[in-house]
Amino acid sequence: MKDGQERMVGAAVAEGVLDRAPHAALFYDLDRVARRIEELRAAFPSGTLHALAVKACPIAELLRRTTAMGCGAEVASLAELRHALRVGIPPGRIVFDSPAKTEDELRFALEQSVHVNADSLQEIDRIGGILRARGDGPVSIGVRVNPEVRAGSIESSSTGMAGSKFGVSLHDDEAGLLERFETFPWLRGLHVHVGSQGCSLDLLVDGVGRVLELADRIERLCGAGRLRTFDLGGGLSAAYQPGEVAPGFDDYANLLHDRAPRLFAEDWQLITEFGRAVWASSAIALTRVEYTKTSHGRQIAIGHLGADMFPRTAYLPDVWPHEVRVFGRDGRPKGGQTVEQDIAGPLCFSGDLVARGRPLPLIEPGDIVLVADVGAYTLSMWSRYNSRVSPPVYGSTHDSPDLIPLRRGEDVDRVLDFWE
Ligand SMILES: *Cc1c(COP(=O)(O)O)cnc(C)c1O
Repeated sequence: MKDGQERMVGAAVAEGVLDRAPHAALFYDLDRVARRIEELRAAFPSGTLHALAVKACPIAELLRRTTAMGCGAEVASLAELRHALRVGIPPGRIVFDSPAKTEDELRFALEQSVHVNADSLQEIDRIGGILRARGDGPVSIGVRVNPEVRAGSIESSSTGMAGSKFGVSLHDDEAGLLERFETFPWLRGLHVHVGSQGCSLDLLVDGVGRVLELADRIERLCGAGRLRTFDLGGGLSAAYQPGEVAPGFDDYANLLHDRAPRLFAEDWQLITEFGRAVWASSAIALTRVEYTKTSHGRQIAIGHLGADMFPRTAYLPDVWPHEVRVFGRDGRPKGGQTVEQDIAGPLCFSGDLVARGRPLPLIEPGDIVLVADVGAYTLSMWSRYNSRVSPPVYGSTHDSPDLIPLRRGEDVDRVLDFWE
């Protein structure tokens, strides 16, 4: 990864990317993206639909590329659904999840023939009403189930524990769910998503196992072959800390083969919804350092990215750390003795920090700070606080020195539109 990082820094310097507002940008290593998709596809059976979670990385040009590699999209809002359709993802490869789908949104999704996972008994009944009114037509509909296993190490990104806001609670509502399966012959899928980051393979597999047991009970009641889709969600962790090793897609699939073999033995459409594990390690962010200062002994470098792109890191720095590196204006890695430094962003609050107390070579104005593993849940969480313009995004491959523009940065007029 370091080779790729240095290549991208070199290209950014050569093309003067950081000399232009907003003096920060994201860079995706497109070779790495392709490798991750290949690893994902190799780990699961060939007919599996890999619906990448759009919220992790919604950049249109990247979605076009992963679509060309055979992937689909998991969407969780009307805008994400329309985005997926607009970038040309075939409706049969789109999965619509959300706990708050309105009647209009459901009607639109059903007209488009995308796969819909209902999140509650009320939503199943609402879909029943829409289908009754519109008459027959092909539909692909599943239901998200809360397996009520346990939380992962990060409470706020765990979704499969008792009391979660997501899915139908097996504890409270299994009888009601079985009743819906008996009443609605179009209800033919199950969906589980245990969480995002901080969920061990063991936990993910337990969640799938619980829902496979439910699949048994449904097929005993409604007949074998009733279930046509099994969607196991995403949730594979990325490695953000130095020395940490992320589990591979093959590690996960192997454990599923061992402990949940039925998943692969049935004649149903398998769906996955990975986001973070595909994207996180594929991108870096760079920012020019504008100023440095000492404040009561604390050494601070101020750049152009902060809580606007890293809200989780700013508010929960120990839970969501990113590695940082320092380069000179010329793009060469900085060496020399290290000093503990904070990397601060441009926003008007004190918690606006990307990294705290990191031993780094002494940073000077004009230097470049690299933030690693920013390919997922960063630009997609962009905040409008202080009305900063969001950065452009480039791609890079090992066989060309030139950057490939993937997304234009915002200009101030586009930001001001937000407030009109
Ligand atoms: C966020 C989300 C995903 C993706 O999770 P990752 O941790 O990025 O793999 C998949 N499915 C659902 C329903 C989600 O909410």
